[in-house]
This record gives sequence, C-alpha cells and structure tokens, in this order.
Amino acid sequence: MHFHDSMISLVGNTPLVRLNNVTKGLKATVLAKVEYFNPGGSVKDRIALRMIEAAEASGELRPGGTIVEPTSGNTGVGLAIVAQQKGYKCVFVCPDKVSTDKINVLRAYGAEVVVCPTAVDPEHPDSYYNVSDRLVREIPDAWKPDQYSNPNNPLSHYHSTGPELWEQTEGKITHFVTGIGTGGTISGTGGYLKEVSEGRVKVVGADPEGSVYSGGSGRPYLVEGVGEDFWPTAYDRNITDDIVAVSDKDSFQMTRRLAKEEGLLVGGSCGMAVVAALRVAEGLGPDDVVVVLLPDSGRGYMSKIFSDEWMNDYGFLEEAGDQPRVGDVLRRKEGGEL
Ligand code: PMP
Repeated sequence: MHFHDSMISLVGNTPLVRLNNVTKGLKATVLAKVEYFNPGGSVKDRIALRMIEAAEASGELRPGGTIVEPTSGNTGVGLAIVAQQKGYKCVFVCPDKVSTDKINVLRAYGAEVVVCPTAVDPEHPDSYYNVSDRLVREIPDAWKPDQYSNPNNPLSHYHSTGPELWEQTEGKITHFVTGIGTGGTISGTGGYLKEVSEGRVKVVGADPEGSVYSGGSGRPYLVEGVGEDFWPTAYDRNITDDIVAVSDKDSFQMTRRLAKEEGLLVGGSCGMAVVAALRVAEGLGPDDVVVVLLPDSGRGYMSKIFSDEWMNDYGFLEEAGDQPRVGDVLRRKEGGEL
C-alpha cells in the first residue's frame, strides 16, 4: 500500500518547473520551485515543522502545549496543520486589517484567532504586539515560535530547500533568486547552496521597492509577505550577493502573466521574484540555470491581484504614464472616496 502517515510527511520535496513563456528571448534556463505543493499551500510549512520539532526536542514545547504567534498568513497555516497532528493548540494574533477569509482559514484548521485593533499605538495594551506577549505569559505551557528570530526558520531551508535544489538540478544551478520577508528562505537555502557549490552559486534577493532590504525607508507597498521596515535576525545579509528592487505594478502584472502563460496561479511575491529572476537571467548564457522560489498560491489573492477593479484602483493595469501613489490610494480608500 502506498500512503503517507499524515499530512506532515508531505512537507517539502516540491517540484521544479521550467518557465517557458515569460522567459522568451532569454538564453538561460529559468526554473521555478513551486512551494504551493506543500500541504498548507506555502513554503512556510517547512519552517513550521522544524520550529515545532526543535521546540519539542528542547522541551520548550511540552505535550498538550499551546503555540502562540502573531501571524495572519502562511506561517499560521503551517503551524496549525503541524500542531493539530501533534496534539498542540494554536492561538494566532492578527491585526483587524486582515481579511476575514484569511482568519477563517486559520479557524478552519482548528486554531483560535485573536483580532486586535490596528488603530492603536504599539505601546497600547490591546496592540498586536502586546496581546501576543500577554497571551504567552498567561496561557500555561505557551510557546512562541517567533519566525523572525528563530534559527530553525533558516535551518529548515538549509536542511530541506537547499539540498532539494542541489539534487533536482544535479548541481547545475548557477543562480538562486527569492523574495526576502523574515529572510529565512534566502539565508538557509542560499547558505546551503553556497556551501555545497564552494561559493559558485549566486544568491539574489528580490525586494519590494520601499523596503529596507533594498535601501528603502519602509514606505508602503502592496506585495504581501516580503520586505520589512526592520532587520530580522533570521536574515543573514552575508549570504546575499545582490538585491533587486521590484515595483508593485511589475510584481502584480507578472503574477497575472504566470497564471495566463505558465499555468501557475501564485501569489504576488512570486511575481515579484520572477521579475527579479528574469532581470538576472537577461545577462546570462545557455549554460546558466536560474532557480526562482515561488512561496505560495494565488488563491489567497483573488479579490486583489486577480481582480481587474482592484488593479485599476491602483493604476496597475495601465501600460505607462503617471501612476497613483500607493499611499494616496490607501488614504482615499480609508476616507471612503472609493
Ligand atoms: N512570500 C510570501 C507570500 C511569504 O509569506 C513569505 C514569508 N513571510 C515570503 C515570501 C518570504 O519568505 P521568508 O520569510 O523566508 O523570507
């Protein structure tokens, strides 16, 4: 009989697929590591599994304990699946700007979700940050993974994503391109690939214009899951050879092209990473193999990136010319003008 013990054993070993159409005119081979094949639909299943198993081994997470993490997205789904299979409870803390669809996904997997007001100062007792810290203190046997500082976040990629790519490309990978959020993917995967290739593999980060990684001040952008306004300790800057900054418009237009032209319904950070990968590939030859990691599926973005109305509000469907600025559109939306 061929079966898996549980959904946990399906984490990792995702496929590598050649991009054939958005790459027209390029000489290099561009391959996509499609992470939505993970059971929770994103790359974050990998870190959830390793962070939980390491905390079990160290005794930080005790049998029947509760996982508390401020997350609204992919990390929450990964943690919820691994936790339910291993008999832990999950409490996630989300700001109230998170869509009810995302909250309902976490609740569907059995997690408890505490929603906090966005419109209060970080010091306020009801703020997102304070509520998660208070829950960790008050819930017996609570444990907070903290993906931004947990070394098992990059380590999960060092031990899974990196070796998978080396094996799948038979050591022919020359460039690895990925978005940077916590920095776990780029540091762990890039670190392994540099080590095994003795420094030959080039590691390139893709970043939304405005984020600190590409020299910005943290000004608003709409691509989700990537870019930061601070430097997390999960990110090892020494691994990254180069950073490519990509606009929201370019990211989202490419995300839509990936669905239309490559059959890949993926999220906005995937479009962003592909734009960066194609810029890297432009200067390369036929022996080069560029791998770009696509973190999640497009299903969570149907009312945004895949909605013509939403795209038009921001001017993202226009070919050229003056774009409304993200900040201005957000202010207009908040003011009820749209
Ligand atoms: N894209 C999406 C959609 C994500 O959720 C994340 C994780 N925050 C990333 C990219 C970036 O991955 P990492 O945190 O490993 O840098």
